[in-house]
Amino acid sequence: MSNPRIPRPFFCGNWKLWGTLSDSVSLATGVRDAVAGVAAADVAVGPGFVALATVAEKLKGSSLGVASQDGYWEQKGAFTGEVAMTQIADAGAKYAIVGHSERRQYFGETDETVSRRAKAALAAGLVPIICIGETLSERDAGQALAVVAKQLDGATASLTDDELVKSVIAYEPVWAIGTGRVASPAQAQEIHASIRARLVQRLATRAQQIRILYGGSVKPDNVAELMKEKDIDGALVGGASLTVDSFAKLVKEGVAACTRS
Ligand code: PEP
Repeated sequence: MSNPRIPRPFFCGNWKLWGTLSDSVSLATGVRDAVAGVAAADVAVGPGFVALATVAEKLKGSSLGVASQDGYWEQKGAFTGEVAMTQIADAGAKYAIVGHSERRQYFGETDETVSRRAKAALAAGLVPIICIGETLSERDAGQALAVVAKQLDGATASLTDDELVKSVIAYEPVWAIGTGRVASPAQAQEIHASIRARLVQRLATRAQQIRILYGGSVKPDNVAELMKEKDIDGALVGGASLTVDSFAKLVKEGVAACTRS
């Protein structure tokens, strides 16, 4: 008999700017059917805003969750173009990705705004997936641990301890996102362990409940070695979440690798 891993593994797709409404529905329903037998992990897909409500409706009653790729902290008002966390929850999402490096790089996201988004997500009943990670030049300068610690502190500054325990952290080294250059399991584990240690400083044993995902060129053929690491609790997946076969295979390989006997 194998023991369930704690915390429960979590695999989340991030579709970024991809696909029509009908592409989104067929990918989501395909993934739903392909992972229907996966009981030992939580799994979600991350469509664009336009497809969010329709995808959530199609997935109703299934175990496959829906994540938004962002979300704003105000609930209403003169904020043209923004989508409130409350609207995202109302559309049927369960998770909200916040602070993705592409939001930080192209849209001026800062740790402070990430923290506000995470807080609003929690207030709306969503689980925030809080993304942090260093750039290549920061890593080359030996600053990876310091950068990640600073981002973790800043992006969770507004959360109470109870809110932080309900959140998911995603370590996504910027140099590994969409590049095909995955962090080695040892590189990823070093940072994940440092994140866990910092969470333990704040939350003591409750820090063990928090899922710390790795993101950055995770594929079906490299997920197993990552998931064998002690502090890697799942993956945030871009490119490999865009076909049913690759995402379902990735989830199954990941679950198989982290099942402890
Ligand atoms: C991401 O977008 O969060 C990501 C990790 O992308 P990819 O898997 O394509 O590197």
